[in-house]
Parts: sequence; C-alpha cells; structure tokens
Amino acid sequence: MTHEAGIPLGIRFKLLSDTAQDSAAQVVNEVVVGDYRDLDTLRRFAEGCDVITFDHEHVPTEHLRALEADGIPVRPGPEALVHAQDKGVMRARLAELGVPAPRNRIVSGPDDVAAFAAEGAAEGAPGSGFPVVLKTVRGGYDGKGVWVVRGAEDPIAAEPFKAGVPVLAEEKVDFARELAANVVRSPHGQAVAYPVVESVQVDGVCDTVIAPAPELAEDAALRAQEMALRIAHELGVVGHLAVELFETKDGRLLVNELAMRPHNSGHWTQDGAVTSQFANHVRAVLDLPLGDPRCREPWTVMANVLGGDYPDMYAAYLHCMARDPQLKIHMYGKDVKPGRKVGHVNVYGDDLADVRERAAHAAGYLRGTIAE
Ligand code: ADP
Repeated sequence: MTHEAGIPLGIRFKLLSDTAQDSAAQVVNEVVVGDYRDLDTLRRFAEGCDVITFDHEHVPTEHLRALEADGIPVRPGPEALVHAQDKGVMRARLAELGVPAPRNRIVSGPDDVAAFAAEGAAEGAPGSGFPVVLKTVRGGYDGKGVWVVRGAEDPIAAEPFKAGVPVLAEEKVDFARELAANVVRSPHGQAVAYPVVESVQVDGVCDTVIAPAPELAEDAALRAQEMALRIAHELGVVGHLAVELFETKDGRLLVNELAMRPHNSGHWTQDGAVTSQFANHVRAVLDLPLGDPRCREPWTVMANVLGGDYPDMYAAYLHCMARDPQLKIHMYGKDVKPGRKVGHVNVYGDDLADVRERAAHAAGYLRGTIAE
C-alpha cells in the first residue's frame, strides 16, 4: 500500500522481502528475497537506495545504526525506531517526557510479578493489585507476546519468561475504549495530525476503526493529537507515528504503545482522508511537504478482513460490490489463515450506524462469517 502511494509520484521502490510470495513482493518490481536480520543482506540491499523505510519494526536496531554509519538515510532512524521496537525503552522514555501511561515496571520472574502487583495495593493505589498484564519487550504483535495474570498463583505468570527476552509488567487498565492518534513528521520538522480514531479490538486484534472517534470531547481529541505530535518531535520520528491510547472511564488518556510506520489504525485514510497515511509516509521519508490529513466525509469506518474459510472470493466480491457500490475493498494477496489479517474494507458517509453496518457486513462476508 506504501508502494501504491508512491506510484503517482513516480517513486521507484526496491523491496527486501522474506519470501517471493509476500504481499508487497507481488506488486513491487524490484524484489530482493532475504533475511532482514542479516547485516550483509541489508548492506547489499541498501546499495543504490536513496533512503530506507519499513513496513514493520523488527529490523535489529544495531543493523540500522550500521547502515546509517555507511551513509544510508534510514527513516525513521534507529534512535527513534527503538521506541517502537522495545516496549521497555519506550516506557522509560515516555516516563521521562511525563507522558501518561499505565503503571509499569520491568520484572524478573513470577515472584517479581506478585511483588509488582502488591506494590501500593495495601494503600489501594491506582493500578495496584491483580490482574497484571505481562509483555515481552520485543517481538510482539497483534496481542502475541501479551499475557494477563489473574493472581499470585496463576501459572500463566511463568510463560513470558520462557522466551529469554526482558518482560514488562503493567497494570491492567480498565479502559472505556482504545483510541489511536496518528501523526506524520518530516525530517525538517513539519508535522500533521489525523483526526483521533477509535480502534475496536477483538481478542487482542484490531477489528474495526472509526474515524473520527465517536463522541470524543474536543479537548480530549486535541490533547491526544498534541501528545502524539510532541512524542514525534521529542523522539525525532520521521514518517508515520501511531500512538495507541487507552481512554479511561474517568477521561484520562494513557499511552499503550507506539508504531512507526503506516498502521492499521490509519488504513481508513486511504478512502476517508484527503491524504492517506501511506502518501504522507512517503512524502515524509522523502522530506516533501506533507498533505492535508483531514476527513473527506463525516464518518469513515475501516473493518479488517480476518482469514476465515470462505471458499469463493469471486462470489464474495459479486455479493459485496452489488450490495454496496460505495464499498472500498483492499485485499492483501496473503494466504488465508484463521485469524490472520488478509485485507480490510473502508466505508464512508454521514450516518455512522449505516456506515458501521455496511463495513461490518462486507468484512464479515469476505471472511465467510456472514452467509448469503
Ligand atoms: P501488540 O504489540 O501485540 O499490539 P499491545 O501492547 O498493543 O500488544 O497489546 C495488545 C492489546 O492488549 C491492546 O490493544 C489491549 O487491548 C490489550 N492491552 C495491552 N496492554 C494493556 C494494559 N496495560 N491494560 C489493559 N489492556 C491491555
């Protein structure tokens, strides 16, 4: 989708891909198949590139530092990107900046998890006691790498430590809903903020995004945008930054995590904003002026298509396109596996209930959970 946004600008992409079948490898002309964890592969790939950017955050930080030392511009750079790679580094830096977050601490084992829960519990301090959320600091996505520990005897508390990666404990926030503040920043410091969205998660996976977040107070929306712009500025982010937020029942906004790349909470912008997150990411990476982030329509709803077992895509397209001529379908050309994000739909209009129904219907139909 980033490549798609570069086409009208005549920008040539070269892709480093795990396999020749990956979604992007199916559409980018120049593909190198190789392992992004191998520095020699990265160095060979980087030859002839003007600038390097990402669609995931897992390229080792030290390899990116090596590429920068070789003189290759990496955007976002490793000193910013590490905050999206390592939740421990992110939590420590945001605490320094005074950004509100769930109570958290790096823990060393199940006993330490119990100690973390107990801290402040006697005084009834906010966020103390069980349940506690545990996360490996690196390598998680879509809820993989996140565990909820219900009590001191809960055997699940031992699981995260088996990976040999540092583990972060957090209070389990009793949130009203999840929001995302998406911003884009260019190397010389221009930045734009998209309208704050609501992101509805099912089993730790994003299911639906509503733009803008319904009934979000104007001052809360501004606070979220300002927080995201400030984080982008302080960390020196270049490109798209998604700040995932919890809105608590008493109206506080706590940062859950950061993503530094076009993000699922920004997919609605392809059809619902004047300039998509992908187009603005490309502009930022090339240090071009950024495009207008505002909504085109009062409401846009994005619904993810999660892999099911629908046997006949052509029949599904016939049904969905005939039912809703305004529907925008974005499928990724991925192998369908249960629960895997294989595409999304965008629907927009001025009646939120209608827009939500049409998006849910199309996504449900394409994933095979709604029958004829
Ligand atoms: P991932 O890196 O897998 O996306 P996240 O840290 O975003 O992991 O967690 C995935 C989901 O788990 C979140 O969207 C949220 O629903 C839930 N979650 C994560 N941390 C907390 C927390 N401290 N309190 C309550 N729920 C949480």
